[in-house]
Amino acid sequence: MTTKIEKQITAYEVVRPENKKEESNVAHIAPLLERDDVLEGSTYKIKTPHSEHALYITINDVVINIGKPDEHRRPFEIFINSKNMEHFMWIVALTRVISAIFRKGGDVTFLVEELKAVFDPLGGYYKKGGKYMPSMVAEIGEVIQQHLVTIGMMEGQLSTPELEAKRREAKDKLGDDAIAKGNMCDKCGAMAVVRLDNCNTCLECGDSKCG
Ligand SMILES: [Zn+2]
Repeated sequence: MTTKIEKQITAYEVVRPENKKEESNVAHIAPLLERDDVLEGSTYKIKTPHSEHALYITINDVVINIGKPDEHRRPFEIFINSKNMEHFMWIVALTRVISAIFRKGGDVTFLVEELKAVFDPLGGYYKKGGKYMPSMVAEIGEVIQQHLVTIGMMEGQLSTPELEAKRREAKDKLGDDAIAKGNMCDKCGAMAVVRLDNCNTCLECGDSKCG
């Protein structure tokens, strides 16, 4: 439609057609998990030589399909607290991203591998008992692994009696220095392979090659 303008134009305004709501076009990839008011969780303490104060890692779970045969727990959110503010910014970023992945549902075990593969360019460190940690991020990955194993979402043998016996044996027979200089394991990638009773034994995953 055209309109003849008879007066002098002093100002103008573009009139936009009202936006139609296009809700039907919004693709919901996966429904987010819903949060109950009270969640059960676990808090893990880690102390690293890279930070003066301990980190406290809390992972809260939700129970899915309550009362059904496939009822199970899965992680919903993660919080990391420390008195140390030095790492505050990336820790907040990491917890938000991890929590978002937890809430999307589906498989979250890949997080463990991704985090455990992070190497600190300034060097890793050895935990008590001679377990090598390539970075603080890797240790956070290990805590998540420990949690997923505990709630049955992931297979793992973080602390079988056999593995603990091997670690004790290595400590007694070889000493801390030898454990700290462990070689890389072909199977799990940890710097934890030592020579024990004529076998190359990984103190992280228990893999052993004799001869
Ligand atoms: Zn291994």
